[in-house]
Amino acid sequence: MTPRVRIAPSPTGDPHVGTAYIALFNLIFARHFGGKFILRIEDTDQERSRPEYEQSIIDALRWCNIDWDEGPDIGGPFGPYRQSERTDTYRKYAYELLAKGGAYKCFATPEELAEMRKKAQEEGHRGYDRRYRNLDPAEIKAREEAGQPFVIRLKVPLSGECIFDDAIKGRITAPWADIDDQILLKSDGFPTYHLANVVDDHLMKITHVIRGDEWMSSTPKHIFLYQAFGWTPPTFMHMPLLLGKEGKKLSKRKNPTSIFYFRDAGYLPEALCNFLTLMGYSMPGDKELYTLDEIIGTFDPKRIGTSGAFFDIQKLNWLNQKKIIDTIPLDQLWQRIAEWRFNEAFLQKLMPLAQPRLKTFGDFFKVCDFFFINDIPCTPELLCPKDINPDQAAVLLQGMIWDLDAQEDWSGGAFEKASHKVAEKCQVHHKKVMMPLLFAAIMGKHQGPSLYESVTLLGKDQTRARLLNSIEALGGISNKKMDALKKG
Ligand code: GLU
Repeated sequence: MTPRVRIAPSPTGDPHVGTAYIALFNLIFARHFGGKFILRIEDTDQERSRPEYEQSIIDALRWCNIDWDEGPDIGGPFGPYRQSERTDTYRKYAYELLAKGGAYKCFATPEELAEMRKKAQEEGHRGYDRRYRNLDPAEIKAREEAGQPFVIRLKVPLSGECIFDDAIKGRITAPWADIDDQILLKSDGFPTYHLANVVDDHLMKITHVIRGDEWMSSTPKHIFLYQAFGWTPPTFMHMPLLLGKEGKKLSKRKNPTSIFYFRDAGYLPEALCNFLTLMGYSMPGDKELYTLDEIIGTFDPKRIGTSGAFFDIQKLNWLNQKKIIDTIPLDQLWQRIAEWRFNEAFLQKLMPLAQPRLKTFGDFFKVCDFFFINDIPCTPELLCPKDINPDQAAVLLQGMIWDLDAQEDWSGGAFEKASHKVAEKCQVHHKKVMMPLLFAAIMGKHQGPSLYESVTLLGKDQTRARLLNSIEALGGISNKKMDALKKG
C-alpha cells in the first residue's frame, strides 16, 4: 500500500514553526517510503480562519522548500483540499453516523450549557452532562418540528477503554468514561475539527496520521469515529512537542514562532529545516548537520523521539553558521545575503527614511543599521524612561504586543495608535513611551528615522520579536503577573 500522509493546518494565525516541523516529518516519511504528502487546509473555524493566513502557510512552507503532492493550490485526485469547500460532505456523514447510532442530536440551549458548565466547575468534572443522549424519538421529532436548534454529538461509550497503538508512543489506553460527547456538527450545520478531520483522512485515504503530541487527547474520539463508521483507522504517530525555554509548549507569548521571523532574521531555510528535524529525531551516530535528502534516505521512524525537545535558538544559530560556512561557496554568499535584505526592492524602501538624515553617504549605515541587525542592544538603561522602572517598562511593552495582536495589524499606523493607548492606560506621558522606550526597543538607540515607518518596513515578526526581547532584557513578566495584567 502506498503511504499517504498529510498536514492539516488551520489558517488562524501566523505560520508557526511547529507546522514546518510536522510538515517535514510527513514529507520525509512520504519521500522515504515512496508515498504521497498532502496539504489540507482545515478552515472550519469560520471566525478565526482567514484566506491570507492560508496563503502565508503556503508561502512559509515553500520558503522552507517543503513540497506537497496534493493541496488546495495544486489540486489532486481527492480534492477539494480546503475544508470550507467540503461542508456538504461532513453533514452527510454526520447524519450517517446518527443513523448508525454513533451520534445523537442535542438540544441544549446556551443557558442550559452555561448552567452545566458552572456546576461542572464547582464539582470538578466534565462540562456536558449528556442529558440529551437518550431522548425519546418522538420527543426529538417534536423538538425538531418546533424548530429547536440542535447540535450532533458523538455517542462515546460510557465504560471500557479505548486502546490503540501509537507508532511512536506505543500502546495508549484511555478510559471511555473520561472522554466527552464531543460536538461533531454545530447548529449552523458546520462541522467541528473532529468530524471534518476524520472524514477527510478517511476519504483522502490517509494511511498514517503524523501530528503533534497535543492532538493525542483527541485521538480516542477519532478512533471511536472510525469504529462507529466501520472504517479502518490510520496508524497514528504523535510527534514530541517543541518546547520553549520554560519547558512548556513553544508559544508566541514568549518566543518568536512565526516561520517568517526566521526568514526575515536571515536564517537559511535549509538550516531551519535541519534544526527542526533534529528536534524530533536522532540520526545514526548522533549526526547533527545533514541535508533533507540525507534524512529522507536513511529515515527510520524508530529514531523519532518520544519526549519534547527544547527549541534552542543557540543550537539553530550554530547550525546556521555551519551551513553558511560549509554549504555556500564564497562566490555565492553575497547573492544569498542580497536576496535576504540587500536587494533593490528593500533598499529602495529604505531611501525615504534615510534621505533626510544623510550628511554624507557614509551616514547610511549609521542611520539604517537596525534593519540589518538581529541582536539589537537593549539594556534596561537604554530602554527605561526616567522615573519608570524596568517592571513598568516591561508592562508598557507587553501592552503594545497585546494591542497590536488584538488589532491584527502591526503596521506603523497601528503601532502609533497602540503607543498612545498604552501610555494613556498606564498613565505615562506618550513622549516617554516613545523615547527612549520604543525607539530603543526597535532600533537599539535613541535616535533614528521615523519609528512608525521603520516598524512598517521591519514587519510584524521582527517588531514583535524586538518587543519580546526588550521585555526579557527588562527582567521579563512572570506568567502570574501576565495573567493578572490580562484580567486588569
Ligand atoms: N487542524 C489541526 C491543526 O491545526 C490538525 C491536527 C491534525 O493533524 O489532526 O493542526
